[in-house]
Amino acid sequence: MSGGLDSMLAAKLIASLDVDVTCITFTSPFFDARKAQDAARQLNLPLIVEDITAEFLPMFKAPRYGYGKGMNPCIDCHTLMLNITGRKMEKMEADFIITGEVLGQRPMSQTRQSLNIVAKNSGYADYILRPLSAQLLSPIKAEREGKIERSRLLSISGRGRKDQMRLAENFGITRYPPAAGGCLLTDPMFARRLRELFSFTKNPEIRDYHLLKYGRHFRTPDGAKIIVGRNNKDNEELRKLATENDLVCNTAEFPGPVVLVPKGYSDSARLLAAKLCLRYSDAPKNGQAAVICRHNRQDTSFITTAADENDLSVIII
Ligand code: SF4
Repeated sequence: MSGGLDSMLAAKLIASLDVDVTCITFTSPFFDARKAQDAARQLNLPLIVEDITAEFLPMFKAPRYGYGKGMNPCIDCHTLMLNITGRKMEKMEADFIITGEVLGQRPMSQTRQSLNIVAKNSGYADYILRPLSAQLLSPIKAEREGKIERSRLLSISGRGRKDQMRLAENFGITRYPPAAGGCLLTDPMFARRLRELFSFTKNPEIRDYHLLKYGRHFRTPDGAKIIVGRNNKDNEELRKLATENDLVCNTAEFPGPVVLVPKGYSDSARLLAAKLCLRYSDAPKNGQAAVICRHNRQDTSFITTAADENDLSVIII
């Protein structure tokens, strides 16, 4: 259950055939459960939320079928999700798995070939029902055994959304998110930050992925990362993610951003962090001002000037 319209329709269609449906959704540093929680609430169906980070990250670093336009390994990701769901199905002694996939809807992950690859590689090919396109696909075990009536399933295909919108109306589904969105890996800016991260760190920590979501990012010539909050939300999240081993800077006398330098920085990175803190603060740009930098619970005060255009052009990510 992604929480998108197709997954809602697939679940609702099967539930309307008197089948007990339990939804499952997955979380990782790159996607969360909010859309699915909203959808399951609307459909009045139970939802399992499973954090798949531990299995997702090794796959993500070297996906067998590569990435989409961003850093989204959709084929391998779907395969993993279906494999995890298959294991859950066996544990729950459920009969089959439903997905909201629609034949031909997405160029990379929903061609007939991709649907077949994903099903086969998940290890549960004969248990995966795609109710919205089922009549265009081979029958699965539950259909052959008469547990689900094939004639009640649908034959939607292609990129259009008209059939789905009509179906939503019939089912009284009025609230659903836009077709795209929800996975940071498809976001071009996030993908650029990820690639840059991988070029410096082969094995990032989970926190490194979360840090990519907030603030402006800079890389100093000696390889340190500097993150400057852009607004209150960024500042708040950066403070939450900071540890005692990081350097955290704030302006002393003027409103300004939280600047975070993850552990392992040099003196020159610390000076640049202080300068960036001033640049994005309300401090006057043509004079000196104080910045307080905290590390290992100790505060140090710097008097310096704001970073200028030349500093930025070299290091901004
Ligand atoms: S968009 Fe993101 S969550 Fe969805 S299949 Fe692709 S990688 Fe996985």
